[in-house]
Amino acid sequence: MSEMDRKDISERILAEIQHEEIQPFKGRIPPGLGRSMPGALLFKITCHCGVTAMLSVDVPSDAGEDKIGEMIPHLAEALDRQAEQFRRIPCDAHSRMSMG
Ligand SMILES: [Zn+2]
Repeated sequence: MSEMDRKDISERILAEIQHEEIQPFKGRIPPGLGRSMPGALLFKITCHCGVTAMLSVDVPSDAGEDKIGEMIPHLAEALDRQAEQFRRIPCDAHSRMSMG
């Protein structure tokens, strides 16, 4: 899976997402994460309190175009669920889990 494909998949997932606050994650991947999740696509969500959380979904690197097409609605749902969990956490807890 090339970088171009990954960007394309990210955009297709974003098009299906309900939470408009979810953005592609473009920063540096925190140490260790990249290795443990080679197929991960990373997104982020920022709360109004300023804390950003990273969201991720796994796309198998050997998945073909058809398979990816099938997976996209499920990946979007998974991200929406992660966003929902993040929004349910009160802001005083957000500030304690800040990634800076
Ligand atoms: Zn917050």
